[in-house]
Amino acid sequence: MIEVRNLTKMYGDKLAVNNISFKVEKGEILGFLGPNGAGKSTTMNMLTGYISSSSGAVLIDGTDILEDPKKAKANIGYLPEIPPLYVDMTVDAYLNFMYDLKKCKLPRKAHLKDVCNLCKIQDVRGRLIKNLSKGYRQRVGMAQALINNPPVLILDEPTVGLDPSQIIEIRSLIKKLGKRHTVILSSHILPEIQAVCDRIIIINRGEVAADGTADEIAKKITNEHKMTLRIEGPEHSADDKRVIAEAIRSISGVKYVRADMEREKGIYDYDVETDGKTDVRRDINKLCAEKGWNILMLQLSDLTLEDIFLKITMGETLDSSASEKGGKSKKPRIEIKRSANGKIKAVQEDDDKEDDGDGDSIVSDDSEDNNGGEE
Ligand code: ADP
Repeated sequence: MIEVRNLTKMYGDKLAVNNISFKVEKGEILGFLGPNGAGKSTTMNMLTGYISSSSGAVLIDGTDILEDPKKAKANIGYLPEIPPLYVDMTVDAYLNFMYDLKKCKLPRKAHLKDVCNLCKIQDVRGRLIKNLSKGYRQRVGMAQALINNPPVLILDEPTVGLDPSQIIEIRSLIKKLGKRHTVILSSHILPEIQAVCDRIIIINRGEVAADGTADEIAKKITNEHKMTLRIEGPEHSADDKRVIAEAIRSISGVKYVRADMEREKGIYDYDVETDGKTDVRRDINKLCAEKGWNILMLQLSDLTLEDIFLKITMGETLDSSASEKGGKSKKPRIEIKRSANGKIKAVQEDDDKEDDGDGDSIVSDDSEDNNGGEE
């Protein structure tokens, strides 16, 4: 239904969206997730033909939005981040105005009634928009997007500024709409996307950092991708730590090894990250057997989607090719850790200090629980 091909947007010399591609199938609810400034609104604006792209293409049901904007736009209902409302109009006058603007052919009275019922604004149709609460205004914005029954709905941060009960209402409305429309919903709030969407694209710094269902994204980076090993060397010393880390690092498919703190007397933990394609567990086992080292623990990483989102948006993409073996990543490495009480911490490390183990600095702590709350 929607196809985005190598879409790029430059504002002057600022690259806001960098060569992104994805498809959205009919009936899918796609969540477009990313921190503020990631490029979500810019992408939404290009998808709807509101602004032109610097390069690349957007096809809506096979029609290029720039080549035949009239035809492509007829398929789209758009709710921008700031709804385009004429606040001196009544709701009714505004919806009629939008009906005319969209050259809607559906029976006027019945269609507007349906839309108002769906968005639960029937009882405020006679009121001036400027006198409505933010929640109601948002629903009027949603209603205008639904006029003419477009197969595609694009909703940019539809719950920003709403109170929790309004958020719940808008979310359940979007879920309902998803049964009849293909929906793209952008948000910087993970629980929002998780609550509503079938599939998620995480965008960061204008690039697609992950694409899939919540489970697929979580699996991609967990499974064999990351693990923690506890290995007992012969000397029970810091020398063991260096030798063991170096030996694991030389295994094919291992991308990154970091010796962690001393967990038992003279015994260290090693955080190991692989290329995501190679299961290195047997090779590690073989190495340890040959060297006479004892593996006391092997634990696959259990990052949640929240951990992953935090990790990506705090400075590291899932495509970590920049920190391939032998090369140095320019970005600081952010590790997400769960402490014993279940709190999440983002810890920044310096690649040069891989072996000293204790040189981490905490760059974020979610103890205020500011990541998962409603806004
Ligand atoms: P998001 O919607 O994810 O918050 P935006 O698409 O609004 O992100 O912005 C992406 C980047 O492009 C940001 O760095 C923002 O400052 C920049 N940007 C957005 N609009 C403009 C504009 N009209 N002119 C220049 N830079 C812009």
